[in-house]
Parts: sequence; C-alpha cells; structure tokens
Amino acid sequence: MSDALPADTARRHTIEEGPTQQFASDNYAGICPEAWSAMEQANRGSATAYGEDEWTRRAADAFRDLFASDCDVYFAFNGTAANSLALAALCQSYHSVICSSSAHVETDECGAPEFFSNGSKLLVAPSPDGKLTPGAIRALATGRSDIHFPKPRVVTITQPTETGQVYTVGEIEAISATCRELGLKLHMDGARFAHACAALDCTPAEITWQAGVDVLCFGGTKNGMAAGEAVIFFDRALSEDFSYRCKQAGQLASKMRYLSAPWIGVLESGAWLNNARHANACARRLAATVAGIDGLELIFPVEANAVFLAAPEPVLDGLRARGWRFYTFIGGGARFMFAWDADPVQVDRLAADVIELAEQATASVAA
Ligand SMILES: *Cc1c(COP(=O)(O)O)cnc(C)c1O
Repeated sequence: MSDALPADTARRHTIEEGPTQQFASDNYAGICPEAWSAMEQANRGSATAYGEDEWTRRAADAFRDLFASDCDVYFAFNGTAANSLALAALCQSYHSVICSSSAHVETDECGAPEFFSNGSKLLVAPSPDGKLTPGAIRALATGRSDIHFPKPRVVTITQPTETGQVYTVGEIEAISATCRELGLKLHMDGARFAHACAALDCTPAEITWQAGVDVLCFGGTKNGMAAGEAVIFFDRALSEDFSYRCKQAGQLASKMRYLSAPWIGVLESGAWLNNARHANACARRLAATVAGIDGLELIFPVEANAVFLAAPEPVLDGLRARGWRFYTFIGGGARFMFAWDADPVQVDRLAADVIELAEQATASVAA
C-alpha cells in the first residue's frame, strides 16, 4: 500500500512510541560502562583463542579474589547452559535433582538440565514463594529409596528466587546441612546472584562455599553484561572434565576474551555490586510508592530487584494502554524488574501511573 511506511521506519516508530524505558525484564538493559570498556580494551589487538588468553586468566583470578577461594571458573554464554551443564557435572543419568516448582531449571529451560545430564530427573517441591526448605528437601530425598526411583543426588536453589526472595545465610546453611546429611550436592542458580549479595549486604563467600554451596552459576547478563554466566566450582573435584562438557554443548567460546573481559570490568571496579544495589533500590522505590494504595497489593516481599504487583484488571489494562510492558505469568500480578540502568524518573512515572489508575478504579467501584 502506498501509505505504508518502509519496514525499518515502522520499526523505529514502534521503538520510539510509549515510555522510553520499560521494566518487563532486567534483560532489556544494555551493557554497563564497566563491562563495555573492558570489552573495548580486550578488542585492542589479537589474543590467544579458546580461553588460553590473559583476559580469561585475569577474570578467573578476579573471581578467586572475590570469593577468597581457589575455585575453578568457567564461562558460558547463558544461564540455561550454565545451570544445565553444572547439574550434569554433578549427576549420572540415573540421578535426580531436587528443585522448587518455580525454579528456572524446571519452568524455563526447555528440558535442558534433563537433556545435558542424559535424563537426570528433576524432582519438584511445591513452593509458594520459590524457596526450598530443609523439610521439603528431606521429604523428596527420603520418600523413595528403591531401585525403581531415580536416586536423589543434587539440590538446586535459586538465589534470589524467581519471585525475588532472598535466602538468608542461615537458610542456606540449614539447606546445606540437610544436603550433607542426605549425601546431596548443593547447586545455586545465581542468575541474579549480585542482587542477593546487595540485598543481604554480605560477601559472596558467605552465601556460597562458606554456607556449603558446591557449585554456583553467577549471572553476568542480568548484572550489566552483554552475555555470559560464570560457573564456579568451589570443590574442584566436581569440575573434572567440565571443559569437555562445555565444548560438546557448544559453550566453548573461541574468542573467549569477549565473554571473560566484561567480568574483569565489573568485578575489579565493584560495578557488579553497585549495579545490583541500584536495581534493588529501584524495586524498593516502586514498592514504597505503591504500598498502602487501595486495591494494590505486593504479591511477594520486595527483597531484590523484582516487584510483583496485584491490581484490578482495569488497572493492568490501563497500564498497557499507557504503553507499559510487563508479564503476568507468575502469581497473577504484574511483574516489574529493574536493572543497572533503571532511571528513577521513569520508575516514578510508572509509580504515578499505577497510583492514578488504581485511584480511578477505586472511584469507579465506589460510584
Ligand atoms: C534469567 C535466568 C536464568 C538464565 O536464563 P538464560 O536466558 O538462559 O540466560 C537462569 N535462572 C534464572 C532464575 C533466571 O532468571
């Protein structure tokens, strides 16, 4: 049709419409300056391939410093691969992995943990807030011990959970004590690990190896990097042959320095923690503004960088009509996620829209 815009003009138009910054996902954010500058520095010449380079060595050392541990560090492209390969390293195909019903490994990885472990079954504990408890782990691990049932071998917890709940040091210690007693390894999905450290104001070591975690997947993507997660083995015996696993799964980057250098940028500068603190603060900012408004309810306590808001349908429709994007697939409410780049002005605009629509909804019910 003659009045149709050329395809790329139409796309630009769509991007420019509505609120300029959205909070539907913390993956909407770009690359933070510290990660970007480290990549730029790594790009100033050639370097050895497949992780045999200076950048990758420095990044692994930065993790060993951060955790005060002689851990073994690997770099994967994304969290699904990191989690799946880490779990596969801890399991034989006849083993099982205990997780919460809302764990990313269960709900959002397309069966990759089972695929990469050649069939290790996920045993799912029902959980309203996404957290596992020693009791739930014990019930699943001891419910069956006959040859017909896959042998429980690993527990995986998400820190913070998919609903933004943070395990305290004490909760992790209690889980790891149960794991040790039952002969289970403990894996942590830390796609937002930095946000948990910021929320608890603790060191990375305190909520990992010092509390009994064997393997951590430390998320870089949601912490301000372009892509990349680090798989950290605190028990080096568990990482035997892990490089082969990564290579076979298509996770060995030939130009590894572009996955590892951004970690140097965020770890050495402290941006990993500052980014997470800012994201958490923006979530608290929205939560504090909408708390106590008639008709609105925070579905989960706001502990990290997520806000789950229950509101009448007209309020959610109104937000959509004003151009706000959000998902409603967890808990029935609207989920807002904040990243390193969240603009407090934009957070306040969202809060003002939420409040105005809620007041309209309340007024129309009263009328
Ligand atoms: C985002 C996320 C991941 C990683 O997802 P990818 O899209 O595979 O990078 C893993 N676990 C949790 C809890 C997440 O939120």
